[in-house]
Amino acid sequence: MLSYRHAFHAGNHADMLKHFTLFLVLEYFNRKDKPYWYIDTHSGAGLYDLGGSEAQKVGEYRQGIARLNQAQNLPPELAAFTGRLKSILPQENLYCGSPWLAQALTRENDKLRLFELHPADFQHLQNNMREARLGRRGIIGQSDGYQGLIALLPPPARRAAVLIDPPYEEKQDYQRVVHTLKDALKRFEQGCYMVWYPCLSREDSRKLPEELKKLAPDNFLQAELHVRTPSSDGFGMHGSSMFVINPPYLLAEQLKSSLPVLTDILAQDQGARFVLDYQIQ
Ligand code: SAM
Repeated sequence: MLSYRHAFHAGNHADMLKHFTLFLVLEYFNRKDKPYWYIDTHSGAGLYDLGGSEAQKVGEYRQGIARLNQAQNLPPELAAFTGRLKSILPQENLYCGSPWLAQALTRENDKLRLFELHPADFQHLQNNMREARLGRRGIIGQSDGYQGLIALLPPPARRAAVLIDPPYEEKQDYQRVVHTLKDALKRFEQGCYMVWYPCLSREDSRKLPEELKKLAPDNFLQAELHVRTPSSDGFGMHGSSMFVINPPYLLAEQLKSSLPVLTDILAQDQGARFVLDYQIQ
């Protein structure tokens, strides 16, 4: 069942944490000349119209990118991120998805492998990536991203940044993330794997970070950003997280200085807070 459409959520607080972390990781990868692969297991449509009916329905971007764009005196990494977003978006009313951001940050010799199952979003992704002139650097598959990732490992370049960003509308996503990563690490231990997950009151969401830590106890980074107090009825997403296996060594320091500011900018009530936990060998 594919009911999730990212167009309703594009540019929200979760996209800010996810895309900021992705930006920092790819900028780090770009410090070395050696080419790498970017693999996006759950790509979405690539580019979103914030003026369109889906984004306007709840207007989640108003609590996300709109706030970040208005913020003053940002720390250097956040200022670099917002500056980069402005330079890569063709119009002010558009917001990028992870594939659009990644195609803009990667270099001529880097390769992109993008997966998206939803037929309509796959079509949008193809059109948007054509617009971005992705060309022969990229391959887009309308297939399962978990299986697609495993089939690509290890990548010929022996350097890869992977984003795993499922909708978690189905319970199985929690287990599939863990099983896929277990398999991926067997095939390509040194890959940098970024997993996005929602912070919800339900048990599988609360347990996921502990499961992920067991996969790479000595080499992980967990950045959670809670925008509000969990609701008393237990419903809704009060925050989200990026969990990175084999994080670039600068990432912890960069997030230490920028996460408190990002949390203040995105806070919806007094319960806003962040968690930054890491082990880096
Ligand atoms: N990564 C995107 C971004 O940051 O802009 C957003 C992705 S959205 C949260 C999740 C996407 O995964 C949806 O577009 C959905 O159709 C797609 N999807 C769901 N299950 C999938 C699967 N097994 N393989 C590939 N794509 C899937």
